[in-house]
Amino acid sequence: MDGAGKKTSAAIHQEVAREIEALLERVFAERRRSGGIDLEAVEMALRSSLHSAGAAALAQLLQYGPPAADQRWQPCSCGQQAHYVELRTKQVWTALGPLQLQRPYYLCSSCKRGHFPVDLELDVLKTGLSPGVRRMMALVGHEVPFNRGRAQLKLLADLTVTTKAVERTAEAIGRDILAQQQQDIRRAQQLDLPLVTGPRIPILYIQIDGTGVPVVIAETQGRKGKEPGQPAHTREAKLGCVFTQTTTDAEGRPVRDEDSTSYVGAIETAEEFGLRIYTEAWHRGWDRADLKALMGDGAVWIWNIGDQHFPGAVQIVDLCHAREHLWNLAPQLYPSDAARQKRWIMTAQDKLDNGRIESLLTSLRALRPASTEVIDLVRKEAGYFETNAERMRYPQFRAQGLFVGTGVMEAGCKTVVGTRLKQSGMFWTVRGANAIIALRCCQLSGNFEDYWEARRA
Ligand SMILES: [Zn+2]
Repeated sequence: MDGAGKKTSAAIHQEVAREIEALLERVFAERRRSGGIDLEAVEMALRSSLHSAGAAALAQLLQYGPPAADQRWQPCSCGQQAHYVELRTKQVWTALGPLQLQRPYYLCSSCKRGHFPVDLELDVLKTGLSPGVRRMMALVGHEVPFNRGRAQLKLLADLTVTTKAVERTAEAIGRDILAQQQQDIRRAQQLDLPLVTGPRIPILYIQIDGTGVPVVIAETQGRKGKEPGQPAHTREAKLGCVFTQTTTDAEGRPVRDEDSTSYVGAIETAEEFGLRIYTEAWHRGWDRADLKALMGDGAVWIWNIGDQHFPGAVQIVDLCHAREHLWNLAPQLYPSDAARQKRWIMTAQDKLDNGRIESLLTSLRALRPASTEVIDLVRKEAGYFETNAERMRYPQFRAQGLFVGTGVMEAGCKTVVGTRLKQSGMFWTVRGANAIIALRCCQLSGNFEDYWEARRA
């Protein structure tokens, strides 16, 4: 350690000792008075003292002096040089509490832009929150409502922040993740993505789904709602997941590779989402997969994405979803006759499960419902099964050892969107929702660590 280091170290020791002594004095006085120890109060107070001492130590490290004579100029983004002006301080909230950061300020006299090179180095550019604090805020902000996140930070980390700060920070990090994805997507568009090398992947799945996110009124103006004449209250978030499969179990049922699922999603057009999920699939080894499957619920936009971006993938309509169509139709066909509904479903579902779609269509077309409404409904459902017939050859898919249900995606929709974004009283802006969806997808895909590593680099 050099002279300055020793001096800093001595100052820190002194600071820590002073904090702890002051606290212990209070603890002993209290014990003399009451004859006991309130453990929770003492542990919390001790943590708080250690944090203060730590903040003092950290503050010592963050007192930058004026630059050396040969470092009084900094390159400016305008191409000119910015010159050193003075030392300036700002408050930074760290995991140990608030402290003053002192660092050199440079000004470009050509474009009048100010520079704080130290802020860039410490990753506190244009923010009063340290990377450690921002990371904690992102963690709670993607998991629970912002106000609860604030309370968790107080108890768990002894960090006093506002609800708004949790919201802003979590969303800013989500937007940063989105911006990085966007760069990646542009490279994918220009066929410029690096080849990802790795072992062959026996089976790679892409599952796509849509789910409504409750939004503020301004986000739905001019949009039709689900009920005729009613405005929309939600916007559709498009979600996709990619996972791999190497084996089947003893009964020949497919087994998803553990921890192999990654998620992407956003409220955006099918065209935009197509590029997003394509880029994700590429990173996950799309061109190294021996067998590829695309699964969805039957919505047209999903198969359009499949045709455009995933040629050669086996297209599968999620069996549970196809069954739901039958379950919804039965009560319309035989209202107030539960037994007949059940019999009809049993027969129809048997055909569906066995991929006998032509037979199912024949029986649908043989129906003679009384009302024109039900006639229309039956025609619509027949259209659904006819259009998707080749995507419902379940026995073939099973024989290939493939999944036929999209449990993974539906669970994903609930985890990514439902549990966090669809709580009562929540209304999102598209911008805010997309930031939090991106943050959640990043966390749930296990990529948050990488994101943070990349920032440090
Ligand atoms: Zn400049």
